[in-house]
Amino acid sequence: MSEKKINLKLKIWRQSAPNTVGSFVDYSVSVSPEASFLEMLDELNNNLEKNNQDPIVFESDCREGICGTCGLVINGEPHGPLPKIATCQLHMRNFKDGQTIWVEPFRAKAFPVIKDLAVDRSAFDKVIQAGGYISVNTGGVPDANSIPISKDIASEAFDSAACIGCGACVAACKNGSAMLFVGAKVTQFSLLPQGQPERQSRVEAMVAKMDELGFGSCSNTYACEAECPKGISVKNIAKLNREYRLAKIKSKNVEA
Ligand code: SF4
Repeated sequence: MSEKKINLKLKIWRQSAPNTVGSFVDYSVSVSPEASFLEMLDELNNNLEKNNQDPIVFESDCREGICGTCGLVINGEPHGPLPKIATCQLHMRNFKDGQTIWVEPFRAKAFPVIKDLAVDRSAFDKVIQAGGYISVNTGGVPDANSIPISKDIASEAFDSAACIGCGACVAACKNGSAMLFVGAKVTQFSLLPQGQPERQSRVEAMVAKMDELGFGSCSNTYACEAECPKGISVKNIAKLNREYRLAKIKSKNVEA
């Protein structure tokens, strides 16, 4: 018995290089409803290669919603129409036979297109390099586990640590703001004892780097939270603002 397939019309963003003009190109594909979105693109690329055409460039790695590498805007929504999943976790059974699907890259000043659907998200790495780490020696695993942290605090920190750095929050924001991403990192470290020595310098450095790299300010629309595959709450942005103000007040007091 032949496997049931659905036929889809695709309008996919093709752009040969950074700083060139791109456009949507029409394709059609026939796939199993059980295929993932990325497997559907694999299938399309197999067909293109068989016909000596340039395959569509897109990013993926773990394909389990963990690494944050994949990221497409599908029918106008970062990571597609379903809440709290990454692009790689989206399956074709969520689309109708004959449906037209628009696929484009994350769009933000700080995430320039490299080619087709792949964007350069190294700006996130630079924000992390500015302060999103702990440089104190926390010892081996048993030492770290022997530090008493209340269940409430540990759970809150873990919720923030769930951020996979995918960038959907930036793509969803009309200002291209990275405040949900930075807020998640700052909140996680500010709650834990290991994060205290660099608490003040971390938030100042990460916010300064975020501004320098062209991320916009918070639009207060909550679009970031709505599109985040890990359900990171906008409370992390409120916490980021509090941490930043506190750090600035402390800096002023030291200078005075
Ligand atoms: S906050 Fe959410 S949307 Fe933004 S980078 Fe982290 S996981 Fe992705």
